Amino acid sequence: MDTKNKGFNTKLIHAGAYEDVFGSAVTPIYQTSTFSFKNAQHGADCFAGKSDGYIYTRIGNPTINAFEKAMAELENGFGGVATSSGMAAVSSVYMALLGAGKHIICSSSVYGPSRSVLERDFSRFGVEMTFIDTSDLSQIENAIQDNTSVLYIETPANPTMVITDLVKASELAHKNGITVVVDNTFSSPYLQNPLDLGCDVVLHSVTKFINGHADIVGGVIIAKEEEMYKKIRGSMVYLGGNMDPHQAFLTHRGLKTLSIRIEKAQQSAMLVAEYLEKHPKIDWIKYPGLKSHPQHELAKKQMRGFSSIISFGLKGGIKAGKVLMDNVHLAILAVSLGGVESLIQHPASMTHASMSKEAREAADITDGLVRYSVGIENVEDIIEDLDQALAKV
Ligand SMILES: *Cc1c(COP(=O)(O)O)cnc(C)c1O
Repeated sequence: MDTKNKGFNTKLIHAGAYEDVFGSAVTPIYQTSTFSFKNAQHGADCFAGKSDGYIYTRIGNPTINAFEKAMAELENGFGGVATSSGMAAVSSVYMALLGAGKHIICSSSVYGPSRSVLERDFSRFGVEMTFIDTSDLSQIENAIQDNTSVLYIETPANPTMVITDLVKASELAHKNGITVVVDNTFSSPYLQNPLDLGCDVVLHSVTKFINGHADIVGGVIIAKEEEMYKKIRGSMVYLGGNMDPHQAFLTHRGLKTLSIRIEKAQQSAMLVAEYLEKHPKIDWIKYPGLKSHPQHELAKKQMRGFSSIISFGLKGGIKAGKVLMDNVHLAILAVSLGGVESLIQHPASMTHASMSKEAREAADITDGLVRYSVGIENVEDIIEDLDQALAKV
């Protein structure tokens, strides 16, 4: 079915569906590493790009392709590239767009390893980098050099919930010939479409909202234009970070309920945020849906909802935060986010432990910051769980 002009939910259910010879209602798992050619000439033509046909699963596979097509449609891009993990998506994009003597500007508050792989590995190949608060356009402007080729933005940023204006950041970058890449993991295409806001490449850790069931690690990259798509696919195929068919099947199944999962989770997140904001033991809270969030208006303009991740600090700092984390029973003390289950974690010692303390402080990732990902359990149970744990602080 052609879903190009259909609504978002119709796309979630039907986009990318692969019609097999048996009329299978769901795209089957093509659990195969390789595909037979009709004859020697067909094989040669497939490799030369003159004939359609699957060759080898690292290069392409119908189950993976169905998921990639669905994601490309949901993000309004030319094509999607599914990867083994979110980090394989990040690394494939860096690999495709960076090189010796090139410079990248990156949000200082990003998923820890997205920054650490630049500092630890890409620096060894002569890539230059500057980490700034991308929500401040003047900082982007000041960081631009003659050799800047990539502006890498995470918005809302992990874990500070800082929001970058994607329209304005893209305009500024494009005036200077810079490619704009956005990590859209915290919003998913249900809440935000960076390619529609002027960005060139969008990527996701599908481990989070897209799959949504905490049983898969995976990633996906979507490029707006064909040339960029081909460049990134080439790097992914040579780097070898492809998704596998079984992983693609499960992720595509999870994707179908994205809208209803996020709707439920963000409704609850608003109530949890309001509860926490009023609690006497809470020092500060950052949730884009609260009027107190410094970029609440921008979030309203740029996103179609506020998602379900909340960052906050307790008056007793990290000591109090640890008491809270050790006393919640419903929320699982674990990294990751965007799943059906509520999760709580401590970025400074967990997801962002790979960053230096100075880098964390500069990015406002304080030792007292606790991150809560609101799931789809009954919200009164989530709040009751927090309430009894906060009483022990
Ligand atoms: C989790 C995460 C990643 C990394 O994804 P993996 O699937 O764990 O490799 C990248 N960006 C953001 C914002 C994330 O939350």
